[in-house]
Amino acid sequence: MTGGDQLSGGNTPGTEQGIEHEEFHNDIIMMVDDEPLMLGILEVYLVQAGYRNFIALDDSTRAVQLIKEEKPDCLFLDIHMPEVNGFEILEAVRADPETRQLSVIVLTSDTDPATKLKALEMGVTDFLEKPVDSSELVLRLRNALIAKAYRDQLTYYDGLTRLPNRVLFQQRLEAGVTSAQRSSSGLTLMIVSVDRFQNVNDSLGPMAGDAVLVQIAQRLGELTRDAGYDQRKGQEGTARCLGRLGGDEFAISLPGIVGEDQIAEIGDQVTQVMKRPFEVQGEEVVLTASLGIARFPTDSIEASQLLKHAGAAKEVAKKEGRNTLQYYTSEFTERANERRSMEADLHKALDSHQLRLHFQPQLDTASGRVTGMEALVRWRHPTRGMVQPDQFIPLAEENDLILAIDGWVIEEACRQTRAWHLAGYEGLQVSVNVSARQFRQPDLAEQIREACQRAELAPSCLTVELTESLVMGNLDKTARLLHELKDIGVTVSIDDFGTGYSSLAYLKRFPIEELKIDRSFIGGVPGNHEDSAIVRAIVAMARSLELEMVAEGVETTDQYQFLEELQCDRVQGLLLAAPLRDAEFVSFLAKNWNQIEQSG
Ligand code: C2E
Ligand code: MG
Ligand code: MG
Repeated sequence: MTGGDQLSGGNTPGTEQGIEHEEFHNDIIMMVDDEPLMLGILEVYLVQAGYRNFIALDDSTRAVQLIKEEKPDCLFLDIHMPEVNGFEILEAVRADPETRQLSVIVLTSDTDPATKLKALEMGVTDFLEKPVDSSELVLRLRNALIAKAYRDQLTYYDGLTRLPNRVLFQQRLEAGVTSAQRSSSGLTLMIVSVDRFQNVNDSLGPMAGDAVLVQIAQRLGELTRDAGYDQRKGQEGTARCLGRLGGDEFAISLPGIVGEDQIAEIGDQVTQVMKRPFEVQGEEVVLTASLGIARFPTDSIEASQLLKHAGAAKEVAKKEGRNTLQYYTSEFTERANERRSMEADLHKALDSHQLRLHFQPQLDTASGRVTGMEALVRWRHPTRGMVQPDQFIPLAEENDLILAIDGWVIEEACRQTRAWHLAGYEGLQVSVNVSARQFRQPDLAEQIREACQRAELAPSCLTVELTESLVMGNLDKTARLLHELKDIGVTVSIDDFGTGYSSLAYLKRFPIEELKIDRSFIGGVPGNHEDSAIVRAIVAMARSLELEMVAEGVETTDQYQFLEELQCDRVQGLLLAAPLRDAEFVSFLAKNWNQIEQSG
């Protein structure tokens, strides 16, 4: 399918050139009639009217095949022909999804209404009576082409930007790949994805978002056109083309371009045009874009694969901080496959009891006693062995799986802690990590209250660890959620403190009771001057705000002494113990609880 360019001005977004007669002169007109003379007459008339591309066929047996191959924009079809007649051709054309939409004008000398009725039933577009009148011929053809262009516009173009949509873009890419294959040259596909476009919609509204997208389409359109885009028919394969894949994603096909220098240069141009502020509703909007690149034939010889690969590269560009250009490598596919298989396994993990909790003790520096522990989840995978949370929590966080995991962790941590209370370790405290998605559950406090109730654990023995970035979201909502947690009696702790958002105002505003200083700072004390200064500052601030402080990642006695001198309340880390299985943890407690209690 090639049509539609004529209506939209090809790749010129936003310009509506109207439906003009000349616009159709490059359209492919096919004529099937068993009388060569008739074909000659039609062609003469059409040439006079300005048309240039004809396929004339007097052998009706080849018609269906040729229509499929050449994809004409309009077909003149004689009905009475030997061997294969017009009705049979029409039937085959309408039955094939690829040609179903073809405009067909039937040539008939029949004034017989039954023949006309039958043709109409079979979906002909129009009739033309023999002998043919030249003005009538041209008008009927024009009308058929207008109707076709309108259909194409709806089917193949994006209504907002007027760029080719995903369907047409992919067809053009396929044409590009075929043509590159034929000429033994290369082709580069570039996906341009606007970074954080949702912010524009959220802050200025969807109308403003649409206006920005139109401007982006215009700028990218200028870029591709300036670089020699040729919209003539039959040029699809060799011309650059731009399309909107959907949402905030655009794609550019660059035939003949494979060198990294050239690609970098074009990538640079795209980055530059994106950087220029966009004006919408009197406001300036500043945006960046992430670019994903896939190349023919290196990365794939199939258009659909190239699109997939460039998409994967774009995802990596987004993850690596956005505003970057990323080439596809086969690793991405491996990684994506790996992730998919991990994710499928993770769905089964909960039901098949593959998740475990490990417990890492926390020591109170003033008394020298073990007062509690952090519950850390592990996944005992049947073939991969023990999988650490860093490898599967982010995966689970991408969907609702994390809710089930966090829910299970809370239940299990409460149950285990209560069991240890009953075994004589009364007052033992447990901390659990809560992910962003879990935190945003409106009934989180209620869930936790019920979990404590089921386990018969006093909520005061439970600490909920949240990260800084998590509580910095919607401030009112966060305040409400944190108050609900405080009201049921659990302690709220900020995990990895110092690595997230640097606004400290929230510490006063929210009912937070504990800070866990991130282990990246602890790693540097006492040797590293800056880390030491940061830790001192955090401890001083926490003290003045009357917050409990926990240092995590304490590995050496030097670090411990430094923290003890600062009167940091508690420490956690390999110096004491790694996260331990329940049996190991209980023997750790058995060894340390009494002995430490006596000494403390
Ligand atoms: P986190 O909450 O900051 O947990 C502390 C991490 O530091 C743990 O890694 C722990 O094993 C590690 N660690 C403990 N002592 C030391 C030390 O002395 N040196 C060093 N270098 N590291 C130490 P882990 O268990 O791999 O957990 C990593 C992260 O995964 C956690 O960071 C937490 O954000 C997340 N996570 C773990 N369990 C859960 C869970 O049940 N639910 C959720 N949502 N997230 C969890
Ligand atoms: Mg934690
Ligand atoms: Mg932490």
